[in-house]
Amino acid sequence: MPSPRKGIDIVLKISERCNLACTYCYFFFQEMDTHKENTAVIKMSTVEQLVLFVRQAVDEIGLSSVNIGLHGGEPLLMKKSHFENICRTLSEGIKPYCSLKLMCQTNGTLVDDQWLAIFEKYQVHVGVSIDGPKAIHDKSRIDHNGKGSYDETVRGIRMLAEAAKSGRIPSTGALCVANVEADGGELVKHMHQELGIKNFDLLFPREGHDSSLKQQQDKWIRYFKEVLDYWSENQKNNKLYMNTLNRILEMMLTEQHAECLDEYKSMQHNIINVSSEGQLGVDDNILSLDNALLDKNVTIFNTSLNQFLSSQLWQSLITAIDEKPQGCDGCEWFRSCRGGALFNRYQRGKGFKQNTVFCETMDFIHNYIAQYLVDKGLSLEELSNVLSKDPGYLAKNGLNTTIARAAARDVEIIRVSL
Ligand code: SF4
Repeated sequence: MPSPRKGIDIVLKISERCNLACTYCYFFFQEMDTHKENTAVIKMSTVEQLVLFVRQAVDEIGLSSVNIGLHGGEPLLMKKSHFENICRTLSEGIKPYCSLKLMCQTNGTLVDDQWLAIFEKYQVHVGVSIDGPKAIHDKSRIDHNGKGSYDETVRGIRMLAEAAKSGRIPSTGALCVANVEADGGELVKHMHQELGIKNFDLLFPREGHDSSLKQQQDKWIRYFKEVLDYWSENQKNNKLYMNTLNRILEMMLTEQHAECLDEYKSMQHNIINVSSEGQLGVDDNILSLDNALLDKNVTIFNTSLNQFLSSQLWQSLITAIDEKPQGCDGCEWFRSCRGGALFNRYQRGKGFKQNTVFCETMDFIHNYIAQYLVDKGLSLEELSNVLSKDPGYLAKNGLNTTIARAAARDVEIIRVSL
């Protein structure tokens, strides 16, 4: 087993503006409103402070690995020279002390040859957000004049894929927000067959018990049945890898993968958000649920990572992961599901005590994959042996990571096929 490392993901809001106005965007259209006051583009003084923040964490808590996601808004809206300065400052300031991976999440519409050259120079891992076929994508991923962005996004994806194929940049990924109004099977087929994307994931909406999602589970189950029908036919021999589904399949197959998932789930909170002004918060998928979750006075200028990890909010995330939520007692899928994602468990005034609003859908997905494996020859005894164990990793053990850390944001993990 690899030696434990201490690692964390930092989502750095380098641009708090966007050239698109996606209808569901959590950053601009949910609770979080920092973009209204914050500087549109991060200043170099804030980037330099982030370097000091990371180096202090190396000294104080032995941080040995950091993934910095260059996020927005749309990060490619800024001047290329500024983006390059950010990459250079982070690389030169952090790499001598701590392992660093730079990532960038973009809508893909602005990718050009010069951007590719910067990604190549700093080996930036680029992820593109796309919602599937043009008709679906263009309904929600629109510009400020209401025009769909599909054609430009696909152009960007193809350029990135070509650069990755020739070894210039690290492999690219794609994220899709699951859209229950669409046909899930058609969406996955489009990504896989028409765009040639073999590794991607579907994101559950970033909403919890203050939304009506719990009452819509029949629609979500229909949607995921369509997704699973296509995925199960195509995931064999590594032809299609969808992170959420393949992780469940792998954990049901081997104890080694189950332990990997245990660790991954126990680290799900392990993301900090740094705004363009240096404000320090938890994962912005959680922040966007409730303004009360962000103290705007806590910044990387006045708070160390060590102090932030002791905060009440951070500790409440740890408790939420380590204590079985209401509704999960006796559930056979608990080791894999762990009560669902934190942002789908949140409710104002109640925090993270409840299980996910997607419980019925998670139950359906697990049943589907378990049945698929049993039909392929996995014995019920083997399945039960893996599922009946308690999770082997807990969030309270801190930032120590081994296997799952390497795999958490990277689909290049050991693949299992029947
Ligand atoms: S499927 Fe539902 S009950 Fe089972 S672990 Fe997940 S959230 Fe809990």
